[in-house]
Amino acid sequence: MKPDLIKVIEKKYLYIKWNDGAESSIDLQKLRRYCPCATCSSTREEQSKSFIPLYFKDQLSIVKLTEVGNYAISVFWKDGHSTGIYEFPYLKTLASK
Ligand SMILES: [Zn+2]
Repeated sequence: MKPDLIKVIEKKYLYIKWNDGAESSIDLQKLRRYCPCATCSSTREEQSKSFIPLYFKDQLSIVKLTEVGNYAISVFWKDGHSTGIYEFPYLKTLASK
């Protein structure tokens, strides 16, 4: 499973077209919330499931997307956060959450 196309739509969603023809779109707020980096993961563990984070605009703006190897993308957020490596299966799970 690999993306054929990844793009940000209306500064709100990450749109992914997979090579099997499936499509996913992930709200950027969700993408940021579920950033897989160590810092964000441990922060999430401390929060209750019902916790709703508030983000600044820069925390929800994507500057750049880079492919990592053949299995993931890294997301560069405008506030400088860029340590999250989103593996493709993880993105697909996020989209259906
Ligand atoms: Zn993170």
